[in-house]
Amino acid sequence: MPKPKVAFYWCASCGGCEEAVLDLAEDILTVVEAVDIVLWPVALDFKRSDIETMADGSIAVSFINGAVRTSEQDEMVKLLRKKSQIVVAFGSCAHLGGIPALMNLSSRQQMFETIYDQVPSVNNPEGTHPQTSYSIKEGDLTLPEIHEAVRALDQVIDVDYYLPGCAPPPNLIIETLTAILEGKLPEKGAVLSPEKSLCDTCPRKDSKPDKIKISELKRISMTNIPEDKCFLAEGVICLGPATRSGCGERCINANMPCRGCFGPTKAVEDQGAKFLSGFSSLFDSEDEKEIEAFAESVIDPAGLFYMFSLASSLKAKFHDSE
Ligand code: SF4
Ligand code: SF4
Repeated sequence: MPKPKVAFYWCASCGGCEEAVLDLAEDILTVVEAVDIVLWPVALDFKRSDIETMADGSIAVSFINGAVRTSEQDEMVKLLRKKSQIVVAFGSCAHLGGIPALMNLSSRQQMFETIYDQVPSVNNPEGTHPQTSYSIKEGDLTLPEIHEAVRALDQVIDVDYYLPGCAPPPNLIIETLTAILEGKLPEKGAVLSPEKSLCDTCPRKDSKPDKIKISELKRISMTNIPEDKCFLAEGVICLGPATRSGCGERCINANMPCRGCFGPTKAVEDQGAKFLSGFSSLFDSEDEKEIEAFAESVIDPAGLFYMFSLASSLKAKFHDSE
């Protein structure tokens, strides 16, 4: 019997999701044994034309990581959608837009001006910005177009499942592959990780009081938090209350607060707004000026509360419908 065909593809991402596949260690041999990999640009020399000549629906599953920003990424994910029975958004950037989507706080023009004109180390006297085509005597050179906004994968194509995390942990990858191979997947649209919040599974949860009251915020780099104490109760911002569990509490176990890479649970539509609404009740003061000073002590609130979910936030949805 022919082995199921599997594709891996990366869009706007750091490469960490590709590393996560390699982190399967010896389990990767089991994967290679069980499936026929037809596309994996980071590791194998398949071409786009190899995929184009395949029959529609002939790939059992495509794992696509990274957000979508360029015309090439847009074309490739649409091609893989056509050729695949199942598409899995692999990792935070495909799932929610991820860190690349923080660029949506600026326009494309502002991004070009910062990178190509203003960064102190830039030497660009002619003010050259990226162009989609340029002619030289040898012929025309082309580059993909950079779109105005960074989008999560399901803002471009229909997605069947979401494998969360920056990057998804090896056990979840193996569980997903096993479920696909055994035909035991949950209903379409599911996020393949438990529905509990991270606080429910956190090893520090017993030190988290029912009502937290803090009088000042602390930065993790400038304070020492005992390894059994809830970060939030100690005044360090931790997105655990608004984040889905399943990562194995990786950051918490390394004595770092959660930054929300697993995204929200099903009950929450906007992870950043959910955290913000709880966060605003934490400060132990009724004085308007003190509350204002407390709010201002949050450095880069948009980057902090929406570190992974800006593209799929309510703000992005309102913006799209404008
Ligand atoms: S707020 Fe953070 S440290 Fe506290 S219980 Fe939740 S996940 Fe754990
Ligand atoms: S603790 Fe939070 S940020 Fe860290 S891996 Fe888990 S979900 Fe992601």
